[in-house]
Amino acid sequence: MTVFTFTSCKSIINEPGVLQRIGDICRQQHITRPLIVTDSGIVKVGLLDKLERALQGANMPYCCFTEIVADPQESIVLAALEKAKSDNIDGVIGFGGGSSMDTAKLVALMAKSGETLAEIYGVEQAKGQRLPLIQIPTTAGTGSEVTAVAIVTTGKTTKTGVVAPQLLPDVALLDAELTLGLPPHITAATGIDAMVHAIEAYTSVHKKNPYSDMLAREALRLMAANIEEATHNGSNLDARQAMLLGACLAGQAFANAPVAAVHALAYPLGGHYHTPHGLSNSLVLPHVLRFNAEADSDLYAELAEVVLADRAIGTEAEITQLLINYLERLIVKLEIPNRLRDMQVPEADLPMLAKDAIELQQRLLINNPRAVTQADALAIYQAAY
Ligand SMILES: [Zn+2]
Repeated sequence: MTVFTFTSCKSIINEPGVLQRIGDICRQQHITRPLIVTDSGIVKVGLLDKLERALQGANMPYCCFTEIVADPQESIVLAALEKAKSDNIDGVIGFGGGSSMDTAKLVALMAKSGETLAEIYGVEQAKGQRLPLIQIPTTAGTGSEVTAVAIVTTGKTTKTGVVAPQLLPDVALLDAELTLGLPPHITAATGIDAMVHAIEAYTSVHKKNPYSDMLAREALRLMAANIEEATHNGSNLDARQAMLLGACLAGQAFANAPVAAVHALAYPLGGHYHTPHGLSNSLVLPHVLRFNAEADSDLYAELAEVVLADRAIGTEAEITQLLINYLERLIVKLEIPNRLRDMQVPEADLPMLAKDAIELQQRLLINNPRAVTQADALAIYQAAY
């Protein structure tokens, strides 16, 4: 018997074009004046316009905070909170990637509960209620629209998280029309990140559970079937919607069965070289899986069956190798960098990265199917170099 708790958001709407109904959806959540939390990139490509027109068409007043940057500092979160307070809003719409959605979670909570960041950092420290919250992802990747976590940058390379069930939204809107304009390399890297969420949730040591397993398998199936089409033929709405749903399912999976060594070894790359999150994961993915394979070939063999069109035949170890080969070939076909050397990571830095991963990422490494020492981490970075 598996003892577990599974938590997710109340409502997910999977529908291309659903943004047009945002006014009605706000009213259903008793929002009369939302704050939109987004970044300048979303403004530049015209996506904010789309959201604004939909709200105007529904005669709904709103205000915007457009200053979100990747890995936002506390000062950005506090500026968004200030905007929420001064403009008297009664609901929050997170619109963009993980950073915008994470900030939207914190603003919705702090604007209502009055708690400070210092009070809510950590796991389930937040006590108060939040304002109504709607999340609208514009990339298929982070799954942040369905996770109860928000990450804030609190030092030069250090980040602090808030984990609390209140951070789950009332509604997540999956509208692939918003992702049609994403360039191929971003579609590819964010898609691989979401596939890693599914793979790591499925093999997570402590909290693996039947709901997460089911979500992870379906997420991986959808994304394996659609990531190449979405990357190379970005205007294919069906492929885009499948990726958005796949990323959301994977998000629900890893929100309840946390990620492990792929993410643990990816984070130092982001911290030191600002390598985008999805790409960092992609760079170390095959090498971590090859390392883990010894400990977890039965579960990897199950996932191989999900992604490979033909039924795999062989021992578990052989079928696991097919999964790793599939992922390596996929990364090449998606035409994103696949070696650390291509990212201008100095080879002399690898020991420092390994030390960082071991010292700072234990919260993730404890979920990994095989114990990772500093020497192991170094060997994985060397293999990825
Ligand atoms: Zn990730």
